[in-house]
Amino acid sequence: RAKTAGKNRYEFYTQEMTDQAFERFLMVGALRNAIENQQFVLHYQPQIDLRDNSIIGAEALIRWNDPQMGTIPPSRFIPVAEKTGMIQNIDRWVLNTVCHNIHQWQQQGYRVPRVSINISARHFGSNILADEVAAILDHHHCSSELIELEITEGVIMNNPSRAGKELKQLRDMGIRLAIDDFGTGYSSLSYLKTLPLDRLKIDQSFISDIPGDKNDQAISRAIIALANSLGLEVIAEGMETEQQRQFLIEEGCFHAQGFLFSKAVPEHSFLALLKKV
Ligand code: C2E
Ligand code: MG
Ligand code: MG
Ligand code: MG
Repeated sequence: RAKTAGKNRYEFYTQEMTDQAFERFLMVGALRNAIENQQFVLHYQPQIDLRDNSIIGAEALIRWNDPQMGTIPPSRFIPVAEKTGMIQNIDRWVLNTVCHNIHQWQQQGYRVPRVSINISARHFGSNILADEVAAILDHHHCSSELIELEITEGVIMNNPSRAGKELKQLRDMGIRLAIDDFGTGYSSLSYLKTLPLDRLKIDQSFISDIPGDKNDQAISRAIIALANSLGLEVIAEGMETEQQRQFLIEEGCFHAQGFLFSKAVPEHSFLALLKKV
């Protein structure tokens, strides 16, 4: 019996692994087609100044609509894209699309705020990012002050000296740099004083249980104080409630993005929020 059970378990495992491998295999093929077949779209989530509800920026967030699989959230396909090297193509598509949009919006007379773009760890470490970004900005006649790149702490810790060089190149081009999901990664704080950074994004996991969770309050308060005293900007992610808004204002964090104001919306809905020049 034991032998049979063991054998069944073994078969179960291999079947599961085969399914996973097969899913990844399908996903890679599908990802490859997605760019060509225009199955990706960008949504934009406004970033708000809490003091007057004005829009100070937006984060570009990718969405994938596959005719067979439906809408696939980035949490499912970005990790696969990172493991298979497809992420460079995706990041490049996002950069091109944002720069193209910014230029178009300006031509249409909109007062365009800065747009934040997520850059994956793998792409960041590649040493070609700065040149690539420069070429894309140039191609679309997009001004670098309107672009912010978001990277995570892990990117910096992987190779601090290389990260420093790449960040400096980008900063010299006039591009703003933010640390995404701040406080969730493996990191040392010493890089904050040496690297050319512009802002910290407080991860939504520290915001979502405010005001109930005193520890999250303490951590958020500490991040805000750290940013303020280092002369970095700070923005809270995932602000969903009026109480969280109150907390952030009281603690001196005046910028936020979250469902309380707006989720990430399609381009036309985002434009409806902007003013004309
Ligand atoms: P992220 O960069 O930290 O993006 C913030 C995520 O929080 C987004 O999820 C956004 O929709 C969600 N969010 C914003 N406000 C709220 C809120 O009030 N409540 C809740 N519950 N969620 C909120 P999304 O769009 O599913 O993206 C997930 C992650 O996928 C992103 O985390 C980012 O790491 C990655 N990602 C998304 N778009 C791109 C992209 O274009 N390129 C790359 N490389 N990664 C991307
Ligand atoms: Mg982000
Ligand atoms: Mg984040
Ligand atoms: Mg994230």
